[in-house]
Amino acid sequence: MKRRRWLQWGCAHCAALGGLAAAQTAWEVPPRFAHPDVASDEGGLWALMDREEARLRRSPFRMRDEPLGHYLSDLACRLGASHCPDIRVYAVRTPFFNASMAPNGMMQVWSGLLLRMENEAQLAAILAHEIGHYLQRHSLERLRDAKARAAFATVMIPLGVYGLIGQLVALGGAYAFSRDQERDADRISIQLMRTAGYDTREAAKVWANLLAELKANPAGDPTQDSVLFATHPPSDERRVALQSLGSDGAGRTGENDFRAQLKPVRFDLLEEEIKRGRLDESVVLLTRLLSNEPEQPELLYFRGEARRRRAAAGDVDLAWIDFQAALRTGNAPAQTYRSVAELYRAANQGDAARAAWKNYLEAAPDAPDVGLIRQYLEESK
Ligand SMILES: [Zn+2]
Repeated sequence: MKRRRWLQWGCAHCAALGGLAAAQTAWEVPPRFAHPDVASDEGGLWALMDREEARLRRSPFRMRDEPLGHYLSDLACRLGASHCPDIRVYAVRTPFFNASMAPNGMMQVWSGLLLRMENEAQLAAILAHEIGHYLQRHSLERLRDAKARAAFATVMIPLGVYGLIGQLVALGGAYAFSRDQERDADRISIQLMRTAGYDTREAAKVWANLLAELKANPAGDPTQDSVLFATHPPSDERRVALQSLGSDGAGRTGENDFRAQLKPVRFDLLEEEIKRGRLDESVVLLTRLLSNEPEQPELLYFRGEARRRRAAAGDVDLAWIDFQAALRTGNAPAQTYRSVAELYRAANQGDAARAAWKNYLEAAPDAPDVGLIRQYLEESK
């Protein structure tokens, strides 16, 4: 996977910028869309997306946690209002930041995005942005754009309209919007958030948080080695634009509601985040989450684990501090003991390592690595 490939806000590829004049133009939610004629280009696009959706329904990556699914659908419904019956939301298990919405009403929200949200208003900002693309039928515009361009490109002509749709989707073009379309979707997202009663100031915070995470990379300027930002470097401008659009925030943030919904799946999402192998970013992310939930044992364990695995200067000491803080809450994940044992083992403190492993076995007697730990204990006697 190429550097930064993970950071795709459906259309984050396309920074939405400038031109706040559009914000003053009145915009009204269009009436529900009828199913397009199958023989039309739009019908072809829908048919292709219907097939994609059937595949997604069966995919092992689809998160099947029912309360979370209902929560996301309900949120999309409140934002989409009259279009609610046409929108279907799928949470997808992938530790990257991405959301997208297809013209047939299929919306995808990836787990790496869910993990990065601080409250319901931030999630609403993203869902509303995707709904904005849907309501403005931006993918159809893109398709027609591509067709117009293809008329001059001999390579495309033999493919015909359906081949062209397939190519567009294959290239990710179905979700890649123009800067104008991004700006349009951002403007609509703020309006939909406001109507649904959310604090619109949270939209810009999503972007600010992501930028902070990207800047964590010691390699320097994140825009330089980012596939997505390489062509649209001024992502901070999007944050600024959203900030001006949503500066009047008066609604709710829904922090506790969001946290309660994510709780049952968060451990697994954090585990996948660490496995992603971008430990600099993970440490920044976990530090931010901990600033909202100080002393949260699960977050302490994972930040300690990110540091233990990264093992940069000072990391072992800091990991140790996080593990101890997690254990002091009396509610630390069992895995904390295992990591503590690893630290002891690395420091050649065999007795202390054995004690920590025993604590782990006691706390997680059914863990998949129990056999391995028993073997260690036997061998190290
Ligand atoms: Zn977009």
